[in-house]
Amino acid sequence: MHQVKLLQLIRIHKQGDTHYLHIMLHANEKTTYYWQVDRETAIRLQAITDFSKGYFYQLSWESTHRQSHITQTYRNESKNLGFICSKRYAEQLTQIQHAESTEQLEELAFLSRNLAFKQETSLSGSRKQRKQRKLPWPLTATFILLLAILSSFTCHAIFTNVNADSEKQEETTEQPIQEEPKPETMLPEDSMTSEEERAIPAVALDAEISSGLDEGMVALTFDDGPSDYSKQIVDILTEFGAGGTFFLIGSNMDEHPDSVEYIHDNNFSIGTHSVNHINFASSSLATQKGELQQSIEMIEAVTGEAVTLFRPPYGQMNEDTKQLSRELGQRIVLWNNDPKDWESRNASNILQQVKSQDVSGSIILLHETEATVDALPEIISYLQEQGLQLVSLQ
Ligand SMILES: [Zn+2]
Repeated sequence: MHQVKLLQLIRIHKQGDTHYLHIMLHANEKTTYYWQVDRETAIRLQAITDFSKGYFYQLSWESTHRQSHITQTYRNESKNLGFICSKRYAEQLTQIQHAESTEQLEELAFLSRNLAFKQETSLSGSRKQRKQRKLPWPLTATFILLLAILSSFTCHAIFTNVNADSEKQEETTEQPIQEEPKPETMLPEDSMTSEEERAIPAVALDAEISSGLDEGMVALTFDDGPSDYSKQIVDILTEFGAGGTFFLIGSNMDEHPDSVEYIHDNNFSIGTHSVNHINFASSSLATQKGELQQSIEMIEAVTGEAVTLFRPPYGQMNEDTKQLSRELGQRIVLWNNDPKDWESRNASNILQQVKSQDVSGSIILLHETEATVDALPEIISYLQEQGLQLVSLQ
């Protein structure tokens, strides 16, 4: 049976002399791959795409006489953009289209689940080797999904209040693993400059404690870094012109000093999340003060800028915490949207969790994990499709 799948183009990468299309296949499951393509096709595609504007790109399955096209969708508007492709691209496209299962896709030599996959097959037991999904792809589910993505901009009006306990089970055993080689983007120099100069929208928090924003805005927040994923998160946010706020743990900073600089140099906000991820509600005043003061000093020593945002681990605090925060010039930042990324560690679950809650005016709690990195482009696209402004917090 002929499989109908939606082929989304997430980004275009260049690693050394090799070009990759980061794609997502939408069936009843969504799966991302890196598709190694020829330079000519990659450059032609790069010329007609802009991943900083929140467009949804769908590659056409049709390609005739070296001509193919891509559909660019933003809100309710779609347009087809033609591009010249290689014969090899057209052949590979056909192979992807005709694959009837995940197993068949995995066998295609030009596809891999991540950029490091082929070089690191000897790294057995590494957590980064993902579970392969092995599910059939019913046609009907595909159509439903396609309709849902392209035409539905509903948001469910289930508003979740701050759940101070919801971070309680958060795993703090997140340990750094080997860093994947970071792909370079193919953006030419001049467009890189304009990317960097694009102002990231920011909102200054006035309240002593914030757990939400005004309607029309949304803040993505990333806890428990810095980590091996910090730079990837920064790059994705930059690509989409989205704001972001990082709540860092002091004890992780020694291992990732570059990541702290990278976040700061790219103009994203940094707040403190304590030195040792302690529970402030059950700690003495002296311990709380040490943790807060020291973490602020550690971050300021790298960035040279005052730290003013504090997220207590697990959202747990007491009156001492509030008093200390006032004394040390900190505004407490909680959240009202928790996709439980630390629990599921699954990109499509994270996206579904985000979508199942009221996103306008939300502060979304995320963590620096691989699944969150995988889900992030789609989360941002979804939020931008809602017409929301993705802001950094200040
Ligand atoms: Zn945390």
